[in-house]
Amino acid sequence: MEVKSIIRELRTTYRVFKYKGEDFFCPFCGNSSKGFLPIGLPHQAIKDYKIIGAGLRNGGCVKCDSIDRDRLLYAYFEFELNVLRNNPKLSILHLAPELMLSKEFLKYKYKRYLCTDKFMPGYTYPKHTVDMDIMDITFPDNSFDLVICNHVLEHIPDDIGAMKELYRVVKPSGTAVLQVPISPLLTISYENPEVQTDHDREVHYGQYDHVRIYGQDYIRRLQSVGFTVDKISITQKYKSFGVIPEEDLFICTK
Ligand SMILES: [Zn+2]
Repeated sequence: MEVKSIIRELRTTYRVFKYKGEDFFCPFCGNSSKGFLPIGLPHQAIKDYKIIGAGLRNGGCVKCDSIDRDRLLYAYFEFELNVLRNNPKLSILHLAPELMLSKEFLKYKYKRYLCTDKFMPGYTYPKHTVDMDIMDITFPDNSFDLVICNHVLEHIPDDIGAMKELYRVVKPSGTAVLQVPISPLLTISYENPEVQTDHDREVHYGQYDHVRIYGQDYIRRLQSVGFTVDKISITQKYKSFGVIPEEDLFICTK
C-alpha cells in the first residue's frame, strides 16, 4: 500500500473515532456520527446573499467525504423517486457526477447509466466518466428517462442554451433533477457583464468560476425552455443525513 493511502486511511480512522456518535447517518458509507466536517468557501457574497447550497458549513462525511447535497439527492432517488435499484428499463444521464452518488448508481443495472463531464486540462476524472459538453449533448432527442445535473448551470454563460439541451434529451414524461446554488433574497438572478476575472467572480458571485447567482427566477428560466418544474422540500424527513434544511429540489419534467 502506498504511503499516501496509509496516511489517508489513518486520518479517516481518526476522524470516525473523533466524530463517533449516533446523531447523524451517512447513507453512502453507513457511518453514524455526531457531526460533519467543514466544507465550502467562506466568501462574503455567499453570506450576503444567503446562498443555499454553498458557503462554509459542516457538511462533509467523516468517513467517505460525501457532502450534504449529495446525501439529499441519495434520499430523493432512493426513497422518493425509487430509482436507485435495479431498473433495467431506465436510461440515465448523469452530468458532472457526484462521486459517491455515481458509485451508488454503478452498483445496479440500468438500460444505460452514462456519466459525462466537460474535461478540463489539469483535472482527472473517474474512469466511468466520458468527455462531453453540456452545450452539445451527443445524443438524439428524447434519449433519457432521468437526467441528473447538479451545480453545473451556475458555471455556464449560456445557461438557457444548456437547459434547452437538457430538455431536448429528456424523454417525454422523463425527469431532470437540476440543482443550483440559489439565493432566497434575489427575485432576479444576479449577472454582471463587467465581472470578468476570477477575483471579481469570487467577490460578486462567491466563487471564482461561477458566472451568476441564481435568484427566485430560476424556475421561470427552466420553464422558458419547456420544463414543468416542481420545487419540493424533503429535508425535514432526512435531517439525520445532515442535509441543508433550506435546500429545495428542482424537479423538472417534460
Ligand atoms: Zn459517508
